[in-house]
Amino acid sequence: MGVGQGQKIFRFAPSPNGLLHLGHARSALLNFQAARKSGGRFLLRIEDIDRDRCRPQFETALLHDLAWLEIEWEQPVRRQSEHLSAYSAALDLLSPMGMLYPCFCSRGQVAASVAGQTNWRRDPDGTPLYPGTCRNLDASQRLDRLQRGEPAAQRLGMAKAIAHLSQPLHWLEFVEGTAAASIRAKPESWGDIVLARKDVPASYHLAVVVDDALQGITDVVRGADLFWSTSVHRVLQKLLGLPAPAYHHHSLLLDAQGRKLSKSLASTSLAALRAEGASPADIRRLAGVAD
Ligand code: GLU
Repeated sequence: MGVGQGQKIFRFAPSPNGLLHLGHARSALLNFQAARKSGGRFLLRIEDIDRDRCRPQFETALLHDLAWLEIEWEQPVRRQSEHLSAYSAALDLLSPMGMLYPCFCSRGQVAASVAGQTNWRRDPDGTPLYPGTCRNLDASQRLDRLQRGEPAAQRLGMAKAIAHLSQPLHWLEFVEGTAAASIRAKPESWGDIVLARKDVPASYHLAVVVDDALQGITDVVRGADLFWSTSVHRVLQKLLGLPAPAYHHHSLLLDAQGRKLSKSLASTSLAALRAEGASPADIRRLAGVAD
């Protein structure tokens, strides 16, 4: 796996907003093993910018789970909440390019403005595309609302960004059992994504791209649910002049109903499996990761 020469750097990047389940174990183990096999480095990055949902006790629990699984990560643990200035610096670089705009809409307002429109386009995660309400504000309205102190997120005008790049973007994807493939990014399928939330000067997409570059990540190994997010990541890497890692989006573990395991579905946590007597070897087997 990986592009170019030199030591490879992998990362596992959980969000401490719930207990780890088998799906996380699969991702963590695949990263750790790939790092071991290539003589590379393995970092742990806590993705904790979502202040509403992240909790210190979940971080403590995940460190315990990973250590129990005999996974060893490099010190120090990286933490997104410690990199907020790096995300602001990235926004400062993008801002003069004229493709960011403040968005005052609440989630509810966005949902209401597309409600009942059955053919409204949705992004790869199934969320309706942003209708562009705040993109179309005139400059004086925008200024007026900002001056009144109305909270605003920052969105990327995707059509402008794509026009600026002029060339289609690709990424290198390692598909299990086959040769690496060049995948054409489809950033247009995401519409005007949020790069900075109202409460934090960052978003998942921005933070992950900045951190992968900051930490020299050469190989991103993560679940297939994030496959098409890579389209957005490639756009941000290109705009910010950052290198592109190689990617491997591994298959997901599904529950008995065929749904992906998730914290919100209260999938069986590693802690619960351990309490029932499962060993680390049992977890590796259940997670479909060979020793
Ligand atoms: N923090 C993300 C998650 O827990 C993973 C991000 C990534 O691997 O790019 O789903």
